[in-house]
Amino acid sequence: MDRNGEGRASLGHAAAGAPTPSRTAREHIERTERFAARNYHPLPVVLSGGDGAWVTDVDGRRYLDCLAGYSALNFGHCPPRLLRCAHEQLDRLTLTSRAFYNDQLGPFAEALAGLTGKDRVLPMNSGAEAVETAIKVSRKWGYVTKGVEAGRATVLTMSGNFHGRTTTIVGFSDDPLATDDYGPFTPGFTRVPYGDIRALADAIDDTVVAVLFEPVQGEGGVVLPPPGFLRELRELCTRRDVLMVADEIQSGLARTGRTFACDHDEVVPDVYVLGKALGGGLHPVSAVAADDDVLGVITPGTHGSTFGGNPLAAAIGHEVVAMLATGEYQERARVLGERLDTRLRELVGAGVLAVRVRGLWAGVDIDPALMTGREACEGLLRRGVLAKDTHGSTVRFAPALVATEDEIDLLVDALGDVLATARG
Ligand SMILES: *Cc1c(COP(=O)(O)O)cnc(C)c1O
Repeated sequence: MDRNGEGRASLGHAAAGAPTPSRTAREHIERTERFAARNYHPLPVVLSGGDGAWVTDVDGRRYLDCLAGYSALNFGHCPPRLLRCAHEQLDRLTLTSRAFYNDQLGPFAEALAGLTGKDRVLPMNSGAEAVETAIKVSRKWGYVTKGVEAGRATVLTMSGNFHGRTTTIVGFSDDPLATDDYGPFTPGFTRVPYGDIRALADAIDDTVVAVLFEPVQGEGGVVLPPPGFLRELRELCTRRDVLMVADEIQSGLARTGRTFACDHDEVVPDVYVLGKALGGGLHPVSAVAADDDVLGVITPGTHGSTFGGNPLAAAIGHEVVAMLATGEYQERARVLGERLDTRLRELVGAGVLAVRVRGLWAGVDIDPALMTGREACEGLLRRGVLAKDTHGSTVRFAPALVATEDEIDLLVDALGDVLATARG
């Protein structure tokens, strides 16, 4: 594979810690740290180009991107088909506002309704906005349709959740990094342990309108629900007349080897919340998809967005849905994921405590006695692999679905080398 060739950051330089950035890279890092708010702690690599599963830094070194924009880049960097579509639309019409119709939103909405099997979709931009939309829709459905007492609607959420960064959403997070010093928070949410169907059943009273959950907790470290949980949740929601709201922003759109992570359990939620890969990594595109009895509660003027459903976003989103319609990317994620699973399991006991894989998506718990997740990512960076740690000792791997089997081997070999070096 020529992509694995000489341009890649050199393997086998086993020094600990992050590599020292070049002078050019250092200048970019210093300027960013000087003028941009410090709400992130990036690895010391400055990227300037991308192609498929690979990125290039300002010094021309190539890296296998195993974060893929938190799955926003399922189709890889600069996917030619999406670029063509975006370029064409850029030259024609980019923003109309929803005060007028445009010729892209209808076809996109129809295609996404088809992909989700739902009656209609409500387009937004970021994932957090789509989650906020789902919360508003659920509450309104609760009052208008279910008959919940005014001002009392409750949404159940789960421990370890990540649904975005707005004040309402962080209010039901249990991660102090997300919540500390940001209160007071929006009332009307009750959190129960992830995957605990009994706790959920006990928490449902007359005020509960929805259960908001991730079918796989991505930010949580690729945490899978207990077997059978999604089906039990589906039955519980149906029985108690509560909306099942699946946040598939990170897990959806082929990442897990199926179109939606819920598909693995043959479960259809009442509401899909989508984002990230829906914009093909080119543009923020998010949406809520549901049937008329749910999304029908939204009437003109009661919810909206300046940019939501803009023709550029709709053209890209429509092309993304067309790319997913063939099942090709889902199949790639499934096949590559099997290899990733097999190969990562070789490292259990050799510096890895546990591995969780669903499709081309893995959470790897590094033995904290050996190194932190951050240190593991620094070691991977030295070996030409970009990955992101979460919750101290977990490293996530989610390469673009256009990666090859050789590239999966490359990432596992790099991790094996990092761990072997640390073991000494
Ligand atoms: C990323 C993410 C969000 C938030 O999306 P933004 O586009 O960053 O607002 C919400 N839910 C899940 C599951 C996510 O992974």
